[in-house]
Amino acid sequence: MIKRILIGALLMFAACEAYALDVVYPKQKTVTINSPSTFFIGSSDYSQPLYINDNIVEVHPSGGFAQTVPLAVGENNFTIKSGNSILNYKIIRPKQKSDVSVSEFKKYDTPKYIISKSNGMPLRTTPVDAGINRLAHLQSGVVMIADGEQDDFYRIKLGDDNYGWFAKSYAEINSKAQNDVFLTGANIDSDDEFYIYTFNLTSRVPWSVEENGDTLDISIYNVVNAPKDNFYRIKVPLDKILYGKDLIGYSAYYSGTDFIVKIRKPLNISEDKPLKDVKIAIDAGHGGSEFGATGCLGDYEKDINLKYAKDLYHSLKSRGADVIMIREKDEDVALKTRTEKANEEGAVIFISLHGNALPDYKDPLAIHGTEIYYYYKQAKPLAAAIMSAMITEAEVKNNGIIQQSFAVVRNTNALSILIEIGYLINPYDNAQIIDNEFRKKAVEAISDGLENYLRGQI
Ligand SMILES: [Zn+2]
Repeated sequence: MIKRILIGALLMFAACEAYALDVVYPKQKTVTINSPSTFFIGSSDYSQPLYINDNIVEVHPSGGFAQTVPLAVGENNFTIKSGNSILNYKIIRPKQKSDVSVSEFKKYDTPKYIISKSNGMPLRTTPVDAGINRLAHLQSGVVMIADGEQDDFYRIKLGDDNYGWFAKSYAEINSKAQNDVFLTGANIDSDDEFYIYTFNLTSRVPWSVEENGDTLDISIYNVVNAPKDNFYRIKVPLDKILYGKDLIGYSAYYSGTDFIVKIRKPLNISEDKPLKDVKIAIDAGHGGSEFGATGCLGDYEKDINLKYAKDLYHSLKSRGADVIMIREKDEDVALKTRTEKANEEGAVIFISLHGNALPDYKDPLAIHGTEIYYYYKQAKPLAAAIMSAMITEAEVKNNGIIQQSFAVVRNTNALSILIEIGYLINPYDNAQIIDNEFRKKAVEAISDGLENYLRGQI
């Protein structure tokens, strides 16, 4: 009898749990959000009306909901009600600071010599610490000439007439670095996989590599024996060395004071099994203490990403690919470790899998669909092939193929893309993403997109 009552109580508790009102965002009941609007994301009982401050909120049949709310400056109180469940939230929007400081460029009377302190630091086109305004990522020990500064950046001379910007915190002033740098030799070599261009310099100087259609333009700046304007520009004829095929991966770096550019040779691809022996790294985003986004129904992005990654692993394996998993379980993996692993293993293609979220001021009901990100232009056709297959086979909404400087796609030598399968904070996308049938379709579409892209390289 006691047992039966206990079981009954447990069942009742379980039933309540299943229909409980749950808010996954904002994460705390009292929060400060500096935005004119934000949103409530969560789940509730579909059979009960849901209210936020007496306004009815649409609930998706899965139970998920997303609702934008405006925020007035100061305290904003919200009562969320579904059946007998009531949750109260207090959101504070701070006053805007009106003193917007206007930054000014200060030119130095005498240029300063500076040296980069660590690896992978961006040489930028503008003095702004964000986005794709990147010319190159420099290693430590690169000698640069700063002719002025603005905010937190040095302005860097790139030859006689061009400039870049480098964060002050990544460099140190070193007057001893002042010496004339010479190019003493150059040669082109090749192995089974790569063409290798080597430039022998007497010191590390800033450089840039630009994808320019039929050519890959290598610039080496501040070299005194350059033919003109204090820099060398070498236009590598891609159309000739790749026989009209697309660029599939390159890297540029210093080894000592030799500047090296490696360009991957065309792959050997078979028509019937285009993925055969192609080395592909799959990166399940986030993991361990990094949860990523939280879906309306409370699922964590890190777990969803891993499910997609495992299915993609099997799909690609069955088509003959040589697949590397960046993570296979729920563990912390640093961004740097992810790209290093792909580079060490010699991945030809790198695919990072994610689920999307939005900043406070956007509307999670209005924005949904699949987005595919790339950083290097070379990866855009691959992104387009995968998007096209996902539209046809998994019926996703194309929310854009976008160039963005995500660390995993920027720091890999492979052809790298990042797929945001959909928006976890959108109730419709969320229900779809966690659906097993949809996942199978999406994964097969990614594999088909890869095959279609590779067939185009035969
Ligand atoms: Zn993510």
